[in-house]
Amino acid sequence: LARLRDRLARSGSPLGTRLLSVLSRDHLSEDDWDELEETLLLADVGAGPAGELIDALRTRVRVEGVKDPVGVRSMLRQELVALVDPTLDRSLGTTPTLAEDGTKTPAVVLVVGVNGTGKTTTVGKLTRVLVAEGSTVVLGAADTFRAAAADQLTTWGARVGVETVRSAKDGADPASVAFDAVRTGRARDADVVLVDTAGRLQNKAGLMDELGKITRVITKDAPLTEVLLVLDATTGQNGLNQARVFAEVAGVTGIVLTKLDGTAKGGIVVAVQRELGVPVKLVGLGEGPDDLAPFDAEGFVDALLQ
Ligand code: GDP
Repeated sequence: LARLRDRLARSGSPLGTRLLSVLSRDHLSEDDWDELEETLLLADVGAGPAGELIDALRTRVRVEGVKDPVGVRSMLRQELVALVDPTLDRSLGTTPTLAEDGTKTPAVVLVVGVNGTGKTTTVGKLTRVLVAEGSTVVLGAADTFRAAAADQLTTWGARVGVETVRSAKDGADPASVAFDAVRTGRARDADVVLVDTAGRLQNKAGLMDELGKITRVITKDAPLTEVLLVLDATTGQNGLNQARVFAEVAGVTGIVLTKLDGTAKGGIVVAVQRELGVPVKLVGLGEGPDDLAPFDAEGFVDALLQ
């Protein structure tokens, strides 16, 4: 969290700086309220949520008779936290199921998203986190479209002693790689199987076919415990459009927002959750192996408002 705060500070969060400059005025005029709303929009919070937040804040300022800037600021913080929704369950589905006879079925986590958003990097970082927590992991390189993806994943895995299941040739059937990965996970008594996929969005029907087939073969052998959608925080509305398609096609259970270190528009967290009704569970804060953090609503809002 300290790191997130640090990075948002370095990228010069316009939300924090501008909001606080408006809120330090003694009396909020009509123009000031408009400026507040505009600031939220600039930070990608989205028109609906921004309007709701301003309405809620104006009502509270009036009803509770708060005039001092510090009071208004603390109300804004509360309203922003409510908007980010701290009540959502952000735990990851990475717990294996154990039968009475002790046989273990690994949790299967499918990672989806458009190429370039940071999928493979996220799988790599998440593998490190899981291994550090004591879980045994098997990786599946079902992104058979991009030749370098399997190599990249294998490298991430090898660094922490994790096996990567991949196809012998490029362009192989991603579903068969996913199938092999889950089989291998079971054979190795693994806790978690993480499956990296290709995200070609040119053709929604094709994507639906591919992800549908992957899902079907996985669930023959083990429950699909988590479908993580990786979104690049720097892409704004475009990211939202991608999110809609994947949510429809893949039954997304959680969002990973990457490259939050490269944008001052942290408000996309609010817009994405609202749009999909799915919580942001993890955030990517850089290209390094340890730049992945669980999402925490209060800490996030504090980082935005600093
Ligand atoms: P994929 O095609 O979705 O698998 O994307 P990659 O994992 O190959 O990542 C694409 C690029 O984004 C790489 O250069 C990564 O290092 C970079 N990247 C991934 N996550 C982050 C992040 O959280 N912050 C930054 N700054 N870069 C990231």
